[in-house]
Amino acid sequence: MTEYTESSKQIPATSYNVVVAGGGTAGVVAALAAARQGARTALVELKGYTGGIAVEGGTALHSFYNLWKAFPGVQKRQVVKGIPQDIIDRLAAAGGTSGHAEMIAGADYDSVCTAIDTEIYKLVTLTMLEEAGVHLCLNTMLTDAIVEGSHITGVIAESHQGREAMMAHAFVDTTGYGDLAGRAGAEYSEPNDYPVVNSLSLANVDLEAYHDFLTGHGALTQYARGWRDGQEDQIVRLDGRRAALPEGFAKGAEEIGMSMVTTTVHNNYFMFIKINYKMDVSPTDRDAASKAEVELRRRQARAVELFREYVPGCEKAFIARTSPSLTIRRGRLVTCDYDITRDDVLEGRHFDDDIMAYGFHDSAPRLQIKDGGTYGIPYRALRVSGLDNLLAAGMMITSDHDAHMSTRNTVACMGQGQAAGTAAALCALQNRGTRDLDYAVLRQALTEAGVHLEN
Ligand SMILES: Cc1cc2nc3c(=O)[nH]c(=O)nc-3n(C[C@H](O)[C@H](O)[C@H](O)COP(=O)(O)OP(=O)(O)OC[C@H]3O[C@@H](n4cnc5c(N)ncnc54)[C@H](O)[C@@H]3O)c2cc1C
Repeated sequence: MTEYTESSKQIPATSYNVVVAGGGTAGVVAALAAARQGARTALVELKGYTGGIAVEGGTALHSFYNLWKAFPGVQKRQVVKGIPQDIIDRLAAAGGTSGHAEMIAGADYDSVCTAIDTEIYKLVTLTMLEEAGVHLCLNTMLTDAIVEGSHITGVIAESHQGREAMMAHAFVDTTGYGDLAGRAGAEYSEPNDYPVVNSLSLANVDLEAYHDFLTGHGALTQYARGWRDGQEDQIVRLDGRRAALPEGFAKGAEEIGMSMVTTTVHNNYFMFIKINYKMDVSPTDRDAASKAEVELRRRQARAVELFREYVPGCEKAFIARTSPSLTIRRGRLVTCDYDITRDDVLEGRHFDDDIMAYGFHDSAPRLQIKDGGTYGIPYRALRVSGLDNLLAAGMMITSDHDAHMSTRNTVACMGQGQAAGTAAALCALQNRGTRDLDYAVLRQALTEAGVHLEN
């Protein structure tokens, strides 16, 4: 490889109060929150739609509630509200969610499962962003940051229109990969501690027959019923213990890293059958990620064969969708002012600057939040170290793997997004750095916007 020195050139520049980089799970909520505070907000999203991994890879949204079912006697309560719940309300009105469907089997893993129609999610969130007055910069990639000392003055973005600068007072990195923090010189690492995934959805399948197949083999581990295709009390989530299934299926699934958990809001449709692949290096490595993309698609072809061969009702199944590109559970881990620990999560600790409460752990029932309660995510955990006007939200915070297995979940990311967007807007409108923001003011803005806090 040789090197080339780019020459400088004049490019158009636009000014905003807040720029949110990445319109995925956390970024949609961050941009909505910032705009609803009255900030002139731009959302820079690489793809032509919003939602990120919530619409590309995730099984369902976890979890708006504390884990009351696994802890008899614990009061059932909704712990994430605010904008994440607004989105669910809008989705429900558009026929795009199972609702908060209660788990019948697997209630020690989660008490509810909120399945979504991914296409309706895209339109609903785009509409909400438009209504809030967010400048939507879709099909636009953030490529660089303009930094003076510890202050970001702007970002560089590229679209088919060309290269441009977006200047702002405050910035939120919700790229998942930590692209903005990385370009701005923030400290980060790349733990590469999860497999990458491409999730496929199968059509022409029979959910009831899949349910019977799992129960017939004594393999059913997760089961929820909710709204599906206009009818209440339908199967919307199923998972099974692979080892209990016919040997050919179990062995084939293991070889391709397939997990068979599925959710759906439509008859004849399985969403998000996941094919996992552990890369040797971090998924930020372009060439290694390109190889992984090809390998994942080969494995997906094998996955549909397995379903056709072994699962009743799937004889004529076909792949109706795949993730547009591989999805990650972690890219860059960005260093923030506070790093949420395993004990913070499992002991259910709260902080004097909590911005949300959360009660789900993706390793449940092995790891659960104490007594079916919640822990708090502190504001300082969103402040990117070394920079005075950058907040981070989503999968890029929290170094400890066991803690990350909770903070990276969709609804935790959405809640973080609401706090980061609100804080960025307040900083911009009050001309403050992220460390000079009065927590009492942030807390009041969050509670006025419906955020539930437990301390
Ligand atoms: C396969 C898989 C299954 C999962 N299943 C579940 C589940 O069932 N339930 C659950 O709660 N959690 C699940 N998770 C975890 C959860 O979905 C993610 O941790 C969460 O969605 C991450 O949200 P985020 O906002 O950090 O990132 P994302 O949702 O990925 O959003 C990042 C956004 O930034 C954009 N972007 C990236 N780089 C740039 C750039 N340079 N310029 C502009 N835009 C950019 C991306 O296009 C994307 O839209 C799963 C994760 C994976 C990978």
